[in-house]
Amino acid sequence: MWCLIIIMPKGRIHKKIQFYEDNKGCWINTSHARNQTGYPRITWKGKYIPMSRYIWEKNYGKIPEGLVVMHKCDNPPCINPLHFKLGTSKDNTQDAVKKNRMCHGEKHKHHKLTEKEVLAILKSNEGPRALGRKYGVEHTTIMKIKKRKTWKHLKINGLYNKISTG
Ligand SMILES: [Zn+2]
Repeated sequence: MWCLIIIMPKGRIHKKIQFYEDNKGCWINTSHARNQTGYPRITWKGKYIPMSRYIWEKNYGKIPEGLVVMHKCDNPPCINPLHFKLGTSKDNTQDAVKKNRMCHGEKHKHHKLTEKEVLAILKSNEGPRALGRKYGVEHTTIMKIKKRKTWKHLKINGLYNKISTG
């Protein structure tokens, strides 16, 4: 077990953050509560923020406006600053979709299709371009659905596709 101790200019201990290092070099935070998706959060300057953001600013300085801290290691409880990178929140969403972390289609605000539509697409025998025109999305979106790369949590024929929860 390790502990990061953040000291204020006057020598007062500001934060104590405990973690252990796993075999991939991730610093797994153990001292703070995590949000629903597994990211530890910390109170700083009166705000309850992702700990990755706090650690980034303590290590590298202020985060430019509009950017978010992303995990290169895809390990939500990790607070190793070497495993962080900055990106836009759009990058972060695409990254998460790529890694299947975001599996609750309809709850996600960038969705265009409803679960009902996706089920209809999955059952349809029409081609991706025809379906894309029908539902107003790119044919590549249809292909991803058909190949079960997105919307994997949707049940068809009574079976759930297994999804990784990270
Ligand atoms: Zn890590």
